[in-house]
Amino acid sequence: MRYVVDHDLHIHTILSVCAADEGQIPDSIIKEAKEAGYKQIVLTDHYWDKLVPSKTRDDFYETQDYEHICKALPLPKIGGVEFLFGCETDMDKENIIGIPKERYDDFAFILVPTTHLHMHAADVNNFDPEYRAKLWVERLECLLNSDLPFHKVGIAHLTCGLTNRSTSENWRKTFDSIKKEDMRRLFTKAAKLGVGIELNRDDIKRILNEGVQYFDVYKIAKECGCKFYMGSDAHSRGVSKNAREYFEKAVDYIGLEESDKFYIKK
Ligand SMILES: [Zn+2]
Ligand SMILES: [Zn+2]
Repeated sequence: MRYVVDHDLHIHTILSVCAADEGQIPDSIIKEAKEAGYKQIVLTDHYWDKLVPSKTRDDFYETQDYEHICKALPLPKIGGVEFLFGCETDMDKENIIGIPKERYDDFAFILVPTTHLHMHAADVNNFDPEYRAKLWVERLECLLNSDLPFHKVGIAHLTCGLTNRSTSENWRKTFDSIKKEDMRRLFTKAAKLGVGIELNRDDIKRILNEGVQYFDVYKIAKECGCKFYMGSDAHSRGVSKNAREYFEKAVDYIGLEESDKFYIKK
């Protein structure tokens, strides 16, 4: 059976400092989800906990602490849509992850991006594809070696433009430089841990522009037994609902079946 697109597990509100739409609030998000036909959505505002010291995390996180993102609570309810409270934390330049053990129970779902390299590469101005490819592998490896509660963790936007935002060509060369054997090793481990792999709206759009062969990253993950969820990464109204057409394209290109779906475990 073909993968059914019935959720969006990566949505921001105006509480994320990079969001600009004042109307992007829990009430509008859940209404939009109902219209889009999503049965499950997750709020994932940017978050770095004060309990996690970091010498290198970006100033962006200064205000993005636990108390701040909790201002979205309690979440509104609408019949037929499960609305969960999650977060998008981050990994700094030293590969430290911004959520402490004490907070694992406070979130239904925890997103971790390894590709925010615009602020968390050891050398943010080094766009050499080989260097970026090496970071991609190292940071994913570090994440998989952490003690996160993987049954409710998603790895966000693995093919993000921020992996190498210098030029299109450098982005393509970065992904051309990652060895398939490294991908297989990492995705085999990811599958064993039960972590979710995100199909991010922006990533899908990018791959449709850069060349559909870059869906291979996800095809390899699927071959290794990984499970997938959809994430619009919406920061404004309308994006989550409109992401649906891109999610459907990813399902087609990757050949996803319903059995490839990631489910958040309680
Ligand atoms: Zn992100
Ligand atoms: Zn995000």
